[in-house]
Amino acid sequence: MPIATVNPATGETLRVFRPLRPDETEERLAAADTAFRRYRATGFAERAALLRRAAELLEQDSPDIARTVTTEMGKPLTAARAEAAKCVKAMRWYADHGEGLLADERPADADVRDAGAATARVHYRPLGPVLAVMPWNFPLWQVVRFAAPALMAGNTGLLKHASNVPQTALYLEDLFHRAGYPTGVFQTLLVGSDAVEGILRDPRVAAATLTGSEAAGRSVASVAGDEVKKTVLELGGSDPYLVLPSADIERAAATSVTARAQNNGQSCIAAKRFIVHTDVFDAFTERFTAGMAALKVGDPMDEATDVGPLASERGRADLEELVDDATGRGAAARCGGGRPAGFDRGWYYEPTVLTGVTPAMRIHREEAFGPVAAVYRAVSLEEALDIANDSPFGLSSNVWTRDDAEVARCVRDLEAGGVYVNGMTASHPALPFGGVKRSGYGRELSGHGIREFCNATTVWQAAA
Ligand code: NAP
Repeated sequence: MPIATVNPATGETLRVFRPLRPDETEERLAAADTAFRRYRATGFAERAALLRRAAELLEQDSPDIARTVTTEMGKPLTAARAEAAKCVKAMRWYADHGEGLLADERPADADVRDAGAATARVHYRPLGPVLAVMPWNFPLWQVVRFAAPALMAGNTGLLKHASNVPQTALYLEDLFHRAGYPTGVFQTLLVGSDAVEGILRDPRVAAATLTGSEAAGRSVASVAGDEVKKTVLELGGSDPYLVLPSADIERAAATSVTARAQNNGQSCIAAKRFIVHTDVFDAFTERFTAGMAALKVGDPMDEATDVGPLASERGRADLEELVDDATGRGAAARCGGGRPAGFDRGWYYEPTVLTGVTPAMRIHREEAFGPVAAVYRAVSLEEALDIANDSPFGLSSNVWTRDDAEVARCVRDLEAGGVYVNGMTASHPALPFGGVKRSGYGRELSGHGIREFCNATTVWQAAA
């Protein structure tokens, strides 16, 4: 895959980048290693000041970098600006809370005595250079979500970004450089995915995090396993969205449109499977379909656009195959189901609602990465949970109900890393983010995320 900016709204190749030569990659690995030895000794106050400065610069750069993001991957400009703002918030959050999250932990006095120590504590130390293999769908946020906690903890970062967002990748390196981070603390490696194995096997690389597809995750995890290196994997999702009889149907339907179509439908935590109780099926599905059909598809640079093009021609072809498979096996497209009229270029796809989806269809088990919703009818909460859990994925989940017993049942039984009740899944710096099953393992954000790339060191000390 060439490392290039190709505008999804036009299909035009705007810039092609030469991948790093092996000697250039080597230079950067050496710099990451050297930088780590010094940077690990800095205090939290110094790291927080650097992160705050990076946040300030990103805030100033937001109008320009948002245009770059939209040009490279096609999300509406308004969404790109919101993504930059979200990054600023997370950077400030980790600058404020990093030290507290990594404060030494002290066991109870009785346990310290029982362990035969005068004092004992857990001290969090950084691991070293961490390789981050990242996707294009939130090209700023996915990186910041890794980098803010990793750098606050004292690690150094090596970013291998998706090949279709090279200008955003280079911007991020420049951002951390301008913020004053020492050389080598955060670097972008413009390399293809074929270079990842060699980098990960390098003894100077301590650990890796990958956000992306299951195939990429499997590949990185197997190399890391072979090298006995820690990994965090944030992979695909096909989140269920349960609508039960006591739900506020107006709100559930209005929210479902955003939950499915945000980011042109290309979000791992988008709701993708809508599992609706038969008592409210018609009321919900009519409103949901009307909302999806009313979305304005168009030029992502236009402020009025709700849904822009998909990020790649291949991505649209994959989505088309999934929809065609479903309709070929009996699903009905209540709206959409193909390419919108009036676009002679760009990788656009209509917001689509499919009903009559069954387990025999590929969309039941595969991730629809675009504005396509699969709607199921369930006769009971029991059946809704069965459909929800009949998926290889387990990223997040959404439930609409006013019944506390149903909430408790869903929290107990939904196989997912999150349960969002009467709302849609959205990440926040203070809340852990990640999945189970084929959606990956490990957590990002919150205290869980910052500790993933730390060495929880036991310090046991007897009286001298
Ligand atoms: P992708 O093809 O897996 O690419 C993600 C990153 O992995 C890119 O940098 C890619 O590099 C690299 N890569 C691909 N194959 C690799 C391999 N065999 N070895 C090492 N690196 C490899 O995924 P995508 O299409 O960009 O992103 C969409 C997927 O990401 C969806 O499944 C989505 O659900 C998932 N996602 C998950 C989360 C989460 O938090 N769980 C968040 C966002 C997205 P190249 O670009 O050079 O190929």
